[in-house]
Amino acid sequence: MVQRLVFRRRLSYNTNSNKRRIVRTPGGKLVYQYLKKPRKVPRCGQCKDKLRGIVPARPQERSRMCRRKKTVKRAYGGVLCHKCVKEKIVRAFLLEEQKIVIKVLRAQKASAKAKK
Ligand SMILES: [Zn+2]
Repeated sequence: MVQRLVFRRRLSYNTNSNKRRIVRTPGGKLVYQYLKKPRKVPRCGQCKDKLRGIVPARPQERSRMCRRKKTVKRAYGGVLCHKCVKEKIVRAFLLEEQKIVIKVLRAQKASAKAKK
């Protein structure tokens, strides 16, 4: 006997929210089991890498989760990956250093002029 699989809900289009799987029940019947959309891990805002240490979840689920599962405890935790944060810090440091170097050079020039 060939079993006909029927939808268990009224939505009959193969949309993203109507994904299903065929499952055999204990009674031997084949039925559709509706699937939820895949949970995703947020990605880095700069390099689009998956962020580590964050629990994958749907947006609605995420709102119900505790903070620990949504971020890592670092500047830009849960937004940028560690590599991008490192790069940002190094870049800012070098910029500051360059400013200091310029200031020192200017002071040296001024003092040389004063001696002449
Ligand atoms: Zn990154």
